[in-house]
Amino acid sequence: MRKACSRLKFFSAVFFFPMRSLLGRIGLRYDLPSIANAYYRDAFHRIPVRDRAVILPHCLISEKCQARFSKDDGVLCVRCKKCNCGEVYSLCQERGWQFYITPSTGFTKRLVQRKGIRAAVGAACDFEIAKGVRSTPITFRGVRVKQSRVIPQVVLTDRYDCLKNDLDWGALKGIILDGIME
Ligand code: SF4
Repeated sequence: MRKACSRLKFFSAVFFFPMRSLLGRIGLRYDLPSIANAYYRDAFHRIPVRDRAVILPHCLISEKCQARFSKDDGVLCVRCKKCNCGEVYSLCQERGWQFYITPSTGFTKRLVQRKGIRAAVGAACDFEIAKGVRSTPITFRGVRVKQSRVIPQVVLTDRYDCLKNDLDWGALKGIILDGIME
């Protein structure tokens, strides 16, 4: 019964997301990332850590970032401490997770396939989430990315800003730490 309720809540949250502005006007607001994270959390924890990744968007890196770009791995963070990405990279390495900084959604999808990622923590703004909901099949067993299926956890970025964005870094680290303590 609990599982059925959780599924219904998740399904409704995804289904009605494109109408969120309209629903907001009549006082119905909800947080899709929180609902999705709660729904997928157990499945996420069942994926071996080596197949989990943090995949961050390039909008989170410092404007002064000197990292090189690799066609295979995205932005190659050198942990210069000019932004918080390096700290998350270190945490991922400690815990055995993969870590990437990606320049685009298309790159992220190819990355997931190439690296055999089965569970991913991503960060996105409301605009990108809406785009993802429209263009990516979201199922009860994960998000379909080409031939693969990935179990997601999402942290909302502070705003819609491709150059100078931020997020709740504590929440992001919490997902990584929680994932290892099951
Ligand atoms: S910590 Fe990494 S991503 Fe951030 S500015 Fe330095 S090299 Fe770039």
